Amino acid sequence: MAQFDSVNPARPSDVVGTFAATGAAEVDAAVTAAAEAQRRWAQVPVPARAEVVARAGEVLRRRKAELAELVARECGKILLEAGGDVQEAVDMASFVAGQGRSAWGETVPSELGSKLCWTTRQPVGVVGMITPWNFPVAIPSWKCFPALLAGNGIVLKPSEHAPVCAEEFVAACREAGVPDGLIQLVHGFAEPGAALATHPGVGAVSFTGSVPTGRKVAAAAMETGPRLVSLELGGKNAMVVRPDADLDLVVDGALFGAFGTAGQRCTSTSRLIVHPDVAGELVDRIVKRALDLRLGDPTRPSTDVGPVINRASAERIQSMVEHALTEGASVACGGRVRLDVEGCDGGAFYEPTVLVGVDRAHRIAREEVFGPVLAVMEVADLDDAIDVVNSVEYGLSSCIYARDINTALYAVDRIDAGIVYVNAPTIGAEIPLPFGGTKHTGNGFREAGARGIEQFSQLKTVYVDYSGRLQRAQIDTPGVS
Ligand code: NAD
Repeated sequence: MAQFDSVNPARPSDVVGTFAATGAAEVDAAVTAAAEAQRRWAQVPVPARAEVVARAGEVLRRRKAELAELVARECGKILLEAGGDVQEAVDMASFVAGQGRSAWGETVPSELGSKLCWTTRQPVGVVGMITPWNFPVAIPSWKCFPALLAGNGIVLKPSEHAPVCAEEFVAACREAGVPDGLIQLVHGFAEPGAALATHPGVGAVSFTGSVPTGRKVAAAAMETGPRLVSLELGGKNAMVVRPDADLDLVVDGALFGAFGTAGQRCTSTSRLIVHPDVAGELVDRIVKRALDLRLGDPTRPSTDVGPVINRASAERIQSMVEHALTEGASVACGGRVRLDVEGCDGGAFYEPTVLVGVDRAHRIAREEVFGPVLAVMEVADLDDAIDVVNSVEYGLSSCIYARDINTALYAVDRIDAGIVYVNAPTIGAEIPLPFGGTKHTGNGFREAGARGIEQFSQLKTVYVDYSGRLQRAQIDTPGVS
């Protein structure tokens, strides 16, 4: 088996873990083992499963500081945000555990006498999960906890850039009492992911990552399907700023939304659609603050912006910025790869970048950058601004800053996205509400929230006739001739 290293993006000579890349035969063995453990787990009452999930949350809470250090080291997130990543998993455990004693289905009155009608949920069997690197603890938790509650076995293929975080997450689950074999980990690049997505023993595939990979995974999964395939993909998230907006709030929100996690969140703010009356002042203020952001080792509390995941990613961002310049945009700040950040030998950083003079037709205004680049577009008319928001293939997150509530709610109604914030940046989702997007950001499923369980379970409709005689629906219905 080929080996690969997971390295610290801030100092690639620091190897965080070395793994054997899993081949198709090992994926097959993992699915078989998970299926065997799942048959027993499915017999455990739901509230008892929920207790295991709750304990996993407690283990993660206890280990939060240590795991945050690991997230920072393996994925380059600054410590504050790395702590948020772990906290999301803690919150998800608490939310999902509560679902173990909540409504599990619906009941309806029957059209016939002496008859009961209800729905319940049944597990899908083994869920194949393929996850990205940018929320290396949170995203596995978003998938694993509801899947466990629903009574499934799991084979998790984490990103090749975050295998150690995944190992630690699964170790926390095992410490909490998740039975042996129920969660299997397979490591590597595309090959184990593809083998998992097409394995006939996998009842559902849950994928989070980029649009191109999601398309491949879904197509492959359905070739040997049909089966449940849920996709959580990229974003091209916009912030609309109206002339009456509180600019102090906008500046804080734009900096956090665009440059937090070095712009490598699916919900990062990458377009600023601003009214011309305030555009000049706003850009000046954002640029001034962006220039003060300190690039550095993400494990140091003084660092504001960590590295991007690797050199190839920095070069891809650079080529997108250069292309924007050829299309007529200009750099208000940033716009350079930095390989010389103190204490980060070999780490690739990208300067927080603001591009002005961007047009909605430019590539930088349409494609996901996945880096700290904010494209500014000036648009006066509100309907026009909403058209620009909606003009891309993605529909994940969005926000509008306006003091006038009518303006804000008008936009909320018309923006085509899974998430809309008012007077807050495009990042900041909370666990109890659904998370996901419209258009090419996904295929209609939502993670988190009360319906997050839907991608990991199937509905079963149950009818019980205790009349002791044959009753024919739509034929013997009393009072209906
Ligand atoms: P990616 O698409 O490169 O990889 C995601 C996962 O797919 C990794 O585990 C990778 O090894 C695996 N993979 C790659 N090729 C595969 C194949 N042919 N078959 C099966 N698996 C394969 O994404 P990434 O760079 O890890 O993450 C960044 C992307 O994820 C961005 O586009 C971001 O917007 C998106 N994302 C979306 C959400 C969301 O909830 N909507 C959350 C986080 C990240």
